[in-house]
Amino acid sequence: MALFHNGTIVTKNSLCSDGHVVRTQGGRIVYMGPPEKDGAVTAKPMTKADAPDNESVDLQGGYLIPGFVDLHVHGGANADFMDVTPEAWSTICRAHAKHGTTSFTPTTTVARHDQHMKFLALTRAFKENSPGTRVLGAHLYGPYFAPEAKGCHPGAHVRPPTPADYEPYFEYASDISTATVAPELPGAQAFVEACLKRGIRCNAGHSYATFAQMEAAVGWGVTHVDHLFCAMSDRSRLRQTQSFPMRGGVMEATLYFDQLTTEIIADGKHMLPDLLRLAYKVKGPGRLALVTDTSRAMDMPDGAYMFGPLDGGEPVIKKDGVGLTPDGKALGSSVVGMDHCVRTFHQAVPEAGLANVIRMATLTPATILGLEQEIGSIALGKRADLVVLDRELNVRATYIGGAKVV
Ligand SMILES: [Zn+2]
Repeated sequence: MALFHNGTIVTKNSLCSDGHVVRTQGGRIVYMGPPEKDGAVTAKPMTKADAPDNESVDLQGGYLIPGFVDLHVHGGANADFMDVTPEAWSTICRAHAKHGTTSFTPTTTVARHDQHMKFLALTRAFKENSPGTRVLGAHLYGPYFAPEAKGCHPGAHVRPPTPADYEPYFEYASDISTATVAPELPGAQAFVEACLKRGIRCNAGHSYATFAQMEAAVGWGVTHVDHLFCAMSDRSRLRQTQSFPMRGGVMEATLYFDQLTTEIIADGKHMLPDLLRLAYKVKGPGRLALVTDTSRAMDMPDGAYMFGPLDGGEPVIKKDGVGLTPDGKALGSSVVGMDHCVRTFHQAVPEAGLANVIRMATLTPATILGLEQEIGSIALGKRADLVVLDRELNVRATYIGGAKVV
């Protein structure tokens, strides 16, 4: 067990700084409240052998928060999930734990069919056993993008969803959390219906759909939209193909439909605070998740990297704290961890307040995945996935299932 004391506990709606403590046992949160009479005593290490499990953690006036949950993440520390090796996956799981992420959904890029199959097999293996951040399930992201909205993804294997392509993925249906599709593609509706039947949530993303096409997708059961403002149509984009009457696109539909949750890359590079503020105002902290969308260039020096698989990926350049296409004209994923996104959003959108910013990186993504009973907040019975932050919101320690991993 561990006893966390002497800091501010961040709960769903508030900052609790009145001396409350949190105790964990057996990988779960078992107590939150005023110090128990004998709590401080029993939490002290009794013997050396007990020490790892029987720890008194002085928060030193910092924050205790639930661990971050990242819905959209490609890699880190020079590894990409699409490298499809256990070594690459272990590297990424360890790297993101250092940034306070305790759960994530490894996210595919556009790639060959066999690379996706290997990715899904690794998802299954790492769900059982990860050396760092928990693997909740796969985010099957590429390859069903609109070709013109593929962004920095490799173009060669962008394709519409066909049963011949996706039926084999469904061998791993219980290991897939989320699947993305551009709703305007032929076969998109059948794909969404096939996913929902198997309990896989569906996102719209990398799409130049019209508002009407998005409304149809909401009717099929699409509930989430990938990285708001990135790789999506809007009124001005759609005007290039029909000058009037003007049409709304994915952006307008995402802001409009309360049924749609969304996510935002708050790295401070993809967009200025004004767009973060707009997203927060319209969607609110319960419908807007922070995501990193980070590539293998996280925790690496500036230079050239491959986005996606080493075998068939797309070159990107890490420069000035972001990923860029080699010509420097377009964005190519972020290069930061979730702790950076939390600090950025907190500074950029002061009206949100710290509890809501933390919620957007924890309980909101957990709820989007349907896992809010297990993870995402500091509450009795939930998994002891906890992060200690200092007053400047830097990660000081990360606990996953009650065990200190960083
Ligand atoms: Zn993307």
